[in-house]
Amino acid sequence: MSSTEVSTTCPYCGVGCGVLAKAGGGASVRGDPDHPANRGKLCSKGSALGETVGLDGRLLHPEIAGKRAGWDTALDLVARRFRDTIAEHGPDSVAFYISGQLLTEDYYVANKLMKGFIGSGNIDTNSRLCMASSVAGHRRAFGEDIVPGTYEDFDEADLIVLTGSNAAWCHPILYQRLLAARKARGTRIVVIDPRRTATADECDLHLALDPGADVLLFNGLLAHLARVGTLDQDYIAANTTGFDQAVALAAADAPSVEHVARGCGLVVADVRFFYELFSVTERVVTVYSQGVNQSAHGTDKVNAIINCHLATGRIGRPGMGPFSVTGQPNAMGGREVGGLANQLAAHMNFDNRADVDRVARFWNAPEIATRAGLKAVDMFRAVGDGRVKALWIMGTNPAVSMPDAGRVRSALKACDFVVVSDITRTDTTRYADVQLPAAAWGEKDGMVTNSERRLSRQRPFLAMPGEVRPDWRIICDIAARMGFGAAFDFADPAAIFREHAALSAFENKGERMFDLGTLAALSDADYETFEPRLWPVRSRRQADRLLSDGRFPTPDGRARFIAVRQEGVALAVNAGFPLALNTGRLRDQWHTMTRTGAVPRLMANTPEPMVDINPRDATASGLADGDLAHLSTRYGSARARVRITEAQRPGQAFLPMHWSGYFAANAGAGALAAPITDPYSGQPELKNVPLRVVREEIAWAGVLMTRRDLRPTGFVHWSRQAVAGGWVYELGGTETPDQGILLARGLLANPDQLVEYRDRKGLTYRAAAMDENGALAEALLVAPTGQLPARDWLVSLLGSRVQLTSVDRHALLSGRSPAAMPSAGRIVCSCFNIGVNQLADAVAAGCRSLEVIGKELGAGTNCGSCRSEIRSIIGKNRAAG
Ligand code: SF4
Repeated sequence: MSSTEVSTTCPYCGVGCGVLAKAGGGASVRGDPDHPANRGKLCSKGSALGETVGLDGRLLHPEIAGKRAGWDTALDLVARRFRDTIAEHGPDSVAFYISGQLLTEDYYVANKLMKGFIGSGNIDTNSRLCMASSVAGHRRAFGEDIVPGTYEDFDEADLIVLTGSNAAWCHPILYQRLLAARKARGTRIVVIDPRRTATADECDLHLALDPGADVLLFNGLLAHLARVGTLDQDYIAANTTGFDQAVALAAADAPSVEHVARGCGLVVADVRFFYELFSVTERVVTVYSQGVNQSAHGTDKVNAIINCHLATGRIGRPGMGPFSVTGQPNAMGGREVGGLANQLAAHMNFDNRADVDRVARFWNAPEIATRAGLKAVDMFRAVGDGRVKALWIMGTNPAVSMPDAGRVRSALKACDFVVVSDITRTDTTRYADVQLPAAAWGEKDGMVTNSERRLSRQRPFLAMPGEVRPDWRIICDIAARMGFGAAFDFADPAAIFREHAALSAFENKGERMFDLGTLAALSDADYETFEPRLWPVRSRRQADRLLSDGRFPTPDGRARFIAVRQEGVALAVNAGFPLALNTGRLRDQWHTMTRTGAVPRLMANTPEPMVDINPRDATASGLADGDLAHLSTRYGSARARVRITEAQRPGQAFLPMHWSGYFAANAGAGALAAPITDPYSGQPELKNVPLRVVREEIAWAGVLMTRRDLRPTGFVHWSRQAVAGGWVYELGGTETPDQGILLARGLLANPDQLVEYRDRKGLTYRAAAMDENGALAEALLVAPTGQLPARDWLVSLLGSRVQLTSVDRHALLSGRSPAAMPSAGRIVCSCFNIGVNQLADAVAAGCRSLEVIGKELGAGTNCGSCRSEIRSIIGKNRAAG
């Protein structure tokens, strides 16, 4: 649609990078040099955005019971079923489960419909799984969900403490900014994480604490600060309450550095070094993310961190402060509109009657909900036991991402009426009675807010395909059909945004810091040309920096210390489940891979589901690197290939969160995770679940290279990788190899038109099929485990689509190229497509540093996310040489 560059925002992580994008051959993208969040840089995911806008797998038309339907029919049905359910069972019998992928305007109308007009609090968002504990912690300490700092504080800090944050992979551009500051001013970096992540690779101190011990560590810090006198007594006296109780409990909980070290599984000297560093450094930013939030005690962890900043007065000033970074592009926007079940709107709350009354008057919504609704885990429990009878899921995939995902699937299956609006088919759309096709990134138009409270526009540059509609439009159409048309009569996103901004300023005399008052008068033209800016945006003059005057949005204007103690872990490992399972993100993937999984260069670094375990645990379980493992917890099971690594501490395992049923037979971390939640935030524990790992006795392995998009059934294990020209499927089973051949052969498009080879014992099988132009269309290799031939050449033929020569045809079934073909190996740098073998060769040829490798191959010089892996390859190959 737009052949000139449009300024928009990346739809992935909470860094919120500016992107310049235009249509053409999919889309071309580059970092926006004028966007303050990224100043022109993009990470591997952001750089590949242009490759994600294809229509494969897109939902393009409404469907009812899996059959195409017209919009009017589908919308009428949804509105009628919700209306009838509410009439018969009351407003709390329906629910919305929405997403940090929605734009602020989508979020606003969804929240307004459920809380204001349906009259239930039953709207929650997948941000519940991401940062609800930060929200709860902020509200306890500050009185409002406030992130005090901005990204400029990263540039100006002298010490950055990253706790529960693998920023190098999960917030790469922010991490690069931090490294740039380190280079420029020598910023010290402390990483607190049970895993030795890529982030831990470039730090001054890595504290690999035991999972869940964060409160003890920060209580110890608070007690230490009090002991050595590094407190800002004036700040504490003038601006806070509750210090005495908090420090007394911290001192009782963490009486000595030795006690803390023992309780956290750390070395005393390391803990002491951290405490001293924090103590003597004025400009400290403590960054926390999912490692803190995704916990049964996440809110206490957040408050233990904030306590240390309040005690030292290191908040509201340049280069310092507690800083929660969000996982999703608009998690913050969702918090602003009240997308969480326990918030109302515009940072107003159910526990304040005046707030409920205020929002009701503003919306002219006398039937407004008066109490909080069900948080995500409880919501799906209510779906399962029939209390919620009609559910609308927007832009998220809970059948994969929720903890105890098997039970969530059963709940969806049993639910009377499920609506899913999304951009693609997912594991969740399988349970939908009605599917509604929503607009995707590049087609959508609206606002997002990043982790530093910066509002930016997402702008469309592609036409909406098929019958796709924007989420806000779909929600308003349903609202109108339910009889609420007057309150949802918005012409466009700009009109919604103006109302949202006006609500934030409504009867707000400075009590609520979230205030977009000035933007309530934004013209359509101003909305169109809106430049990124931080909130608050008040009509009256304001301080540049939040909390710089020491005043907090609490009734007495003071921040609150929260006395917290280290609790025991929610679930303890035991003889049956001896490992602690941690889950998280991969460098190049996003959520359940609905967008990134189809991009070959984003699949190339980790092409299969892998579980990371320590060599000691591998030996104890009889596991070798590359074995297929069966993983089980009290809640479910999964399969993944074993990667043995010292980065994982003994007793712990790590499985990425991304693998859905579209990309593997059974590798979902959600199925293993516990539905145990934090008592304040309702956020589930996703970082510490007792796990058993045993070897899966696989008898045969296969690899299918095909242009077709398949979801195999009947296999013990399969996973797939997008490659140029198609897909590569890894197959495996416990059947005998001859049975495996039968099973795998069933996947071929035309088993009767193949060149084939089978060994005399019938245990090894190879087959290839050509298209009408004589190019390779499909190839299958099956062999007893460990005996598969190389497939690089065949995979390259799938991508090249060139007519095969007779020499090639003869060589096909051997899998070996007739001409020498160097293999790049697994891709390490996805920005420049540089593989592990190329890096090893470069090291052997004398490239012994990141800088020289960068100069020679380009690897590591763009987004920088692969630098730690390159460094480890240099180390390994230098040692070998
Ligand atoms: Fe997108 Fe986050 Fe990467 Fe920026 S750092 S390009 S917002 S994924």
